[in-house]
Amino acid sequence: AEFKDLGLSPHILSALEKKGYTQPTEIQEQAITPVLQGRDLIAISQTGSGKTAAFSVPLLHLIKESKRKLNPFHVRALIIVPTRELAMQVEESFKQYGKGLALSTMAIYGGHSRKQQVQKLAKGIQILVATPGRLVDLLEDDYVILDDLKYFVLDEADRMLDMGFKNDLDKVMDKLPSERQSLLFSATMPKPVEEIARRTLVNPHRIEI
Ligand code: AMP
Repeated sequence: AEFKDLGLSPHILSALEKKGYTQPTEIQEQAITPVLQGRDLIAISQTGSGKTAAFSVPLLHLIKESKRKLNPFHVRALIIVPTRELAMQVEESFKQYGKGLALSTMAIYGGHSRKQQVQKLAKGIQILVATPGRLVDLLEDDYVILDDLKYFVLDEADRMLDMGFKNDLDKVMDKLPSERQSLLFSATMPKPVEEIARRTLVNPHRIEI
């Protein structure tokens, strides 16, 4: 298959083309259609497989379709990642693949001015990429409000648990609205990750690369 056969918006196709991508990687080929159909997803795959585009590309398409103005501090899509470096990379991917869609995207992580992050969150954010610690910090002060959230992604779930973020993840999951689409990516699937998957996903489509 090629990207142009997957029913993606022309803006996204041209952004992919500009990057020189015509052919989806295996995980992209297996993930994009079920995500576009609204399914929850569990994907077991390594970094380097193209997993970032496997969730960012279909989510950009869905978010664009669901476009509606957001209230201050509300977010439409939340992507949780274990590290600041990954947060910056994932934010950059959303920006590149979403070029021309006019969606607001931001990353929040520790070690960066909280005040600046709060000012930007005040506008309402379509796509928020976050590390668990700073996210919980802002959630507890209502600077991030998840009532209108529709899309939730846990990226590198096994690494997040290894890094001791279980408590933070529990706090976030307590605040998620029940009507949502959730995706979970992990390189390995140990019991604690399976447990999070069971609590987070409804009838997920399962991919193993
Ligand atoms: P990831 O696994 O998401 O970290 O992506 C690994 C690398 O593959 C990144 O440098 C991407 O820019 C690149 N990549 C992702 N999707 C494609 C594609 N369909 N064709 C060629 N390269 C890709």
